[in-house]
Amino acid sequence: MMQSMSTPPPLGPAARDRPQREALKLEKRLCRLVGQAISDFNMIEAGDRVMVCLSGGKDSYGLLDILLKLQARAPVPFELVAVNLDQKQPGFPADVLPAYLQSLGIEYHIETQDTYAIVKAKIPEGKTTCSLCSRLRRGILYSVARRLKCNKIALGHHRDDILQTFFLNMFFGGKLKAMPPKLTSDNGEFIVIRPLAYVAEKDLIDWAEQRRFPIIACNLCGSQPNLQRQVVGDMLREWGKQHPGRIESLFTALQNVVPSHLMDAALHDFRHLKPTGVADAQGDKAFDEEPLPALVGAPFAGVPLVSA
Ligand code: SF4
Repeated sequence: MMQSMSTPPPLGPAARDRPQREALKLEKRLCRLVGQAISDFNMIEAGDRVMVCLSGGKDSYGLLDILLKLQARAPVPFELVAVNLDQKQPGFPADVLPAYLQSLGIEYHIETQDTYAIVKAKIPEGKTTCSLCSRLRRGILYSVARRLKCNKIALGHHRDDILQTFFLNMFFGGKLKAMPPKLTSDNGEFIVIRPLAYVAEKDLIDWAEQRRFPIIACNLCGSQPNLQRQVVGDMLREWGKQHPGRIESLFTALQNVVPSHLMDAALHDFRHLKPTGVADAQGDKAFDEEPLPALVGAPFAGVPLVSA
């Protein structure tokens, strides 16, 4: 019998199950990539007490969610404490995160400090407030971590944040410098980790939708967003669309640094370079063009590509 134009044919069982299968695939990918980053950079060790910073945005919800999944099956014991800083921004829905965290039944702490009032009082109208605001936030989060006896602080930056920072530093800072997956806090007291370092932002957007996280808008302070970061983000997204594989290759490059082929004399001793007298088949062929592999499907040995 012919179906009328307005009634689509009923979905078969395979099509009906598709969203569920996709969600499962995404969950597996997120767990694999976060697990891989944790292992590659030795981010979490037995006995760690990790403060997970939760802003109410998709990335930090995703971070906490995946860390909880990994904690449940980790071979080593470690603790997680979710922490949110309520900066008293106008309109901040103070009940959303406590309700969510209570529903998870996990340890959490909400720190309330009116940094919004300080920032408003100190920064003239129209000037950007982010640098003072984030400095205040950093100091408060360190003191919370100390009080909660956490030795590590987990942040929700992902692969695309890292790449954006890399380009921003090149474009505006004259430095080959991205965002480290693991570092010592500037006060020397904590280890800061970024377990989402291998995760693409798109996956976190999809995961937030799947999990229906109660997202809190991030523009409550009314500050100008970082326009340059947006421009660089758009540039990378456009490259990703126009040239499949380019983002993955760029990200791989951050893990494949060749100081002898850059120009930082502090990293490579160009000054005292001498002939070795020994032929090296892998050595630099100074007069030849660099052979470039085809990007799509090129084997990036040992480096986790983000696509499934
Ligand atoms: S966007 Fe608003 S909350 Fe975020 S750092 Fe800037 S001033 Fe602070």
